[in-house]
Amino acid sequence: MYLAAFPKKIEYEKVRTQLDKMSLAYEVVNPEPGYRLVGIPAIAMEQEVRSRLASNSMDDYVCSGWVEYRRAAIEIPQDAPQHFQKDIFGTVSIMVVAPCIADQTKIRLIAHISGDMSEVFPYINAEMRGACYNENGPMITYMDGYRMITLYPRRIAIAKADEIVDGWHTLEKIRCCVNDVYARRASIVPLYIMRKKPPALELYKRLPGTNCGECGQKTCMAFALTLWNGNAKPFLCKPIFEGKYASLKDAYLEICAGLGVTADGDFPESQ
Ligand code: SF4
Repeated sequence: MYLAAFPKKIEYEKVRTQLDKMSLAYEVVNPEPGYRLVGIPAIAMEQEVRSRLASNSMDDYVCSGWVEYRRAAIEIPQDAPQHFQKDIFGTVSIMVVAPCIADQTKIRLIAHISGDMSEVFPYINAEMRGACYNENGPMITYMDGYRMITLYPRRIAIAKADEIVDGWHTLEKIRCCVNDVYARRASIVPLYIMRKKPPALELYKRLPGTNCGECGQKTCMAFALTLWNGNAKPFLCKPIFEGKYASLKDAYLEICAGLGVTADGDFPESQ
């Protein structure tokens, strides 16, 4: 089965109405009540139903992406989401859902928010010992278990979520963390330096893995370590920038930014 996720409820409703009109079978994966602030319903269907939907010229809807449908191992909480007096997070739209580049059995999400988290980054950096803070982004990267989270002022990238419910669960945790730290910021000493980098292995997982040598290193792992140490520039992996691995570019640049390295290879002063 495949699962379609949507950036807005209206897009979900369009597809659901069409499926009903055509009397096609589907399953709704609903984030309510516990994850209602970070997710909107997704629709799972068999490949045949997906094809029939497509062949019916049903292409006037916006979908965040299609992924293989895996049932969630966790339950949607039955309590209402936590309320914060001042919500700096705002509303969420999941813009991209795709198979994860670093692990095809997991999914990758990109969400946009209406709020702005940048003010809270130095406080999260002070409290979260494993976080990688890049003041020049500004952005903050950290691992939540095996998931890699990157927070930008108005955007969140999650790599290696188990499936859509795990993605909502992770987004809800981020929403609560950001608003909680913001509420307590007067009692936290902000930290403006990068004290940790994302693991070199995560960088390696986003390289083509062909060991072609075009970067001047014998293997992708050697290149990952050289880049991680600040002795190489991201664009040296030509297959990503000029070759057939261009699809890896966004996730690769995301983790490079977490290291404090931009596409042209400059390290910010905090390095
Ligand atoms: S150029 Fe890229 S794919 Fe080739 S060895 Fe270097 S890192 Fe690996």
